Amino acid sequence: MSADVGAALAAKIRDVPDFPQPGILFKDITTLLKDGPAFRQALDALRDRCRGYGATKVVGIESRGFIFAAPLAYQLGAGFVPVRKLGRLPAATARAEYTLEYGTNTVEMHRDAIAPGERVLIVDDLLATGGTCRATIALVEELGGVVAGIAFLAELTFLNGREHLAGYDVQVLISY
Ligand code: AMP
Repeated sequence: MSADVGAALAAKIRDVPDFPQPGILFKDITTLLKDGPAFRQALDALRDRCRGYGATKVVGIESRGFIFAAPLAYQLGAGFVPVRKLGRLPAATARAEYTLEYGTNTVEMHRDAIAPGERVLIVDDLLATGGTCRATIALVEELGGVVAGIAFLAELTFLNGREHLAGYDVQVLISY
């Protein structure tokens, strides 16, 4: 993908200062999602970058990760697996807890979602501190899956989230 595509996509994302709390510059992707050609361009670029992973499952992180993970799974001919916040999944789950600035959060995945040895692509909209993605990696690996790759629409590089993802193959279309 050329740098131009990343710049074109970045221009579609709206910055919202002080949301959800003072001091946070929120990257609002709804302005990209509502633009048909831009949404398609983002999905096609992610598909091109992730095709080589040979993933048979695409794991999407609740909730904005679902928006990209499900169409990517369709395009790659893979299954879609949701990672959800605590208490939302009905059957037996694996759980991973991670630390936030204040307190902790827990994510879950169905235990039968991934078979041992299966190649997995993890997808979310945005890499910030990397905590959510790190917890998702732990879930996939607890179930015996192989994290073949990780893909994000955008990354906030100044938060150094990649430090949590060292050793994994990471694809990002837009870097801030
Ligand atoms: P983290 O675990 O810190 O990498 O946070 C990742 C999740 O939080 C992603 O699913 C994002 O949707 C969301 N997020 C964190 N920071 C921002 C931000 N500045 N703008 C928009 N979304 C954010």
